Amino acid sequence: MGYHASDMTDELLPSHSWKSSVRCPRCFSSVENFEIRPVCSNVSCNHNKAGFPVVNSQPVLIDFEDSIFDRAMYESDQTSALPRDVSLRSFGSRLHQFISGKNPIAAKNFDAFRKYLRSDRRRPVVLVIGGGTIGSGADQLYNDSSVELVGTDVYASPHTHLVADAHKLPFQDGTFDGVWIQAVLEHVLEPATAVAEIHRVLRPAGLVYAETPFMQQVHERAYDFTRFTQSGHRWLFRRFEEIDAGPIGGPGVALIWSIRYFARALGAGDKVSRLISLPFFWLRFLDAFGRGRAVADAASGFFFLGRRSEETLTPQAMPHYYERQK
Ligand SMILES: [Zn+2]
Repeated sequence: MGYHASDMTDELLPSHSWKSSVRCPRCFSSVENFEIRPVCSNVSCNHNKAGFPVVNSQPVLIDFEDSIFDRAMYESDQTSALPRDVSLRSFGSRLHQFISGKNPIAAKNFDAFRKYLRSDRRRPVVLVIGGGTIGSGADQLYNDSSVELVGTDVYASPHTHLVADAHKLPFQDGTFDGVWIQAVLEHVLEPATAVAEIHRVLRPAGLVYAETPFMQQVHERAYDFTRFTQSGHRWLFRRFEEIDAGPIGGPGVALIWSIRYFARALGAGDKVSRLISLPFFWLRFLDAFGRGRAVADAASGFFFLGRRSEETLTPQAMPHYYERQK
């Protein structure tokens, strides 16, 4: 075969090298038998004898002694320990999408994410945390063949490669060129720990894209713990340089959620409360007229696009950060 200019890229690191970066979430030793019966290679580690469960041919690399998730959840005969609406095709999901609208901001932000994503590999490798279902508006990320995605979630799905807990990511330091995390940080017990892990598994100047709710009621029942203002979200990512940040869903979307949960609190069930909020779907169109900080003060959620930094934002910077919010 002749040489083309494009063959130059062959000198770069090959794809799939992320598999060699998989580590035990407890002791960071290498994991043997990745696909069949994964065990930690360190003989003094708990996960050497007990190994890790496998669900749908995917290793469950969770340190069960230090996780909200229990080994038994993954060792039962169920095909998926925590079944979700993976395809987003259920009636409830469709109704929710109609009422709340698609997420056009995520699609726009993917363009920026792709633009800033750099790699010394043939294809940049992006870790998706909470990737069991395709996040709202994230279709472009999944359809982009120039990016290699490594999907993780707390349950196995066709979109994941392994099961992990975001508090202890089972990867070597500096493995990824980017991390994509949509609607996950409200579901972890310690968001700061999860973000420290994102920082650790990113290579220097690696990219992160996060979306996290602010004015949203409890969802996913027992697994919902925290909300963030835009300033709080910025502080959470204080070891990152901000490229862009702003609201996802304005006060109109937040108001639709409130109507639905108000009906629910008065005794309407999940389905009926969705139907009750349906006639108010037009409120989200008013979000287009919202301006400035008043929108950020009442938004449904926020995104943050940033770059891993070796410097930390100072507390003194935070009041100024609020003043220039959009
Ligand atoms: Zn171990």
